[in-house]
Amino acid sequence: MSGIENCVIIGSGPAGWSAAIYAARANLRPLLFEGAMTEENRVMGRYPMGQLAQTTEVENYAGFPSGKLKEFLESAIPADRQYMIPPVEEHAHAVTGPELMELMRTQATNFGTRVITDDVTSVDFRGQPLKLLTSENGSFETHTVIIATGASANYLGLPSEDKFKNRGVSACAVCDGALPRFRNKPLVVVGGGDSAVEEASYLTKYASKVYMILRRGEMRASKIMQDRALNNSKIELVKFSVVDEVLGDESNDRIGVTGVRIKNVESGEKKDLDASGLFLAIGHTPNTKFLGGQVETHSSGYIRWTQPYRTITSVPGVFAAGDVADDYYRQAITSAGTGCMAALDAERYLGAAGIH
Ligand code: NAP
Repeated sequence: MSGIENCVIIGSGPAGWSAAIYAARANLRPLLFEGAMTEENRVMGRYPMGQLAQTTEVENYAGFPSGKLKEFLESAIPADRQYMIPPVEEHAHAVTGPELMELMRTQATNFGTRVITDDVTSVDFRGQPLKLLTSENGSFETHTVIIATGASANYLGLPSEDKFKNRGVSACAVCDGALPRFRNKPLVVVGGGDSAVEEASYLTKYASKVYMILRRGEMRASKIMQDRALNNSKIELVKFSVVDEVLGDESNDRIGVTGVRIKNVESGEKKDLDASGLFLAIGHTPNTKFLGGQVETHSSGYIRWTQPYRTITSVPGVFAAGDVADDYYRQAITSAGTGCMAALDAERYLGAAGIH
């Protein structure tokens, strides 16, 4: 442990990096924990760089229309980070999620943000300074904390789903979709939101067919995304249905998932679909477990801002930004906006306390 930090940011999605850019430019010398690169974090969707790093094109982040981004990206992102960006043949729509995250990370470090690739595992917010314990780098003390840990993908909670995680069950098509086990085979995506359409569309690049399982008669996705699913001849909607069981060979890692048993919610009728993979896109849960209940949340588990339009939480000196405090908008651009707000709130808190 060395000295008391001004501002520690936890999380490396758009909220974390935007907070870091503002805090660094305010000379707070922020320290950002971007998460650990562990297999557990990968499977649970908590890998560094957040949910955007698991997506393809981001068409709705203002400032990145479709165009020839290749040369800009090569010049803007340091050579030793280029490996983080999956290659894109051409930018059909806009910047990709991994590219956007690397650009934000570089912008934050360019202004002096210090980054540690580790998880904060617990906190002690009972008094000042605030204390943080990390997985591999010991403990830290700080005057302010910006929580920007986002949210991770939900799973259905079926025992058979658990058995086949990493053997055909995934919550990230972009991470896993190109694996040989999924090629030229039918696949199942559960959910009817924007994420589900995005996952299903991506998987059609590799799969022979993609079933989208909807528990209702309609999709929740935005109109433009619904049209994208409806106009894709490889996507078949299966309405009023839920997954009853994941079928497969658990003794053989290579084979894994071989099918999905679905149940019609109206008739109760069950049916087996041949499939080599099951992809979940059924929403998210905020990443707040490490807080041990020390920051007030809504009943939904999302952190509560105690004043409207301020990122202030129930703990003095602790601010929350991005999806961890937003169960409503959940957009990259709104996360970035609240990251900026949190840094300004932290700066004003430090100023009012006479610390900085
Ligand atoms: P979402 O909009 O909450 O959709 C979740 C989907 O999963 C819904 O269709 C829901 O069904 C279904 N679902 C939930 N629990 C289920 C269960 N236990 N069994 C079966 N189905 C279940 O979540 P999302 O798609 O992850 O999107 C989250 C936010 O990110 C949204 O604001 C979205 O606009 C945004 N987003 C945007 C883009 C984009 O613009 N390109 C891409 C991805 C995400 P019901 O509809 O029946 O509730």
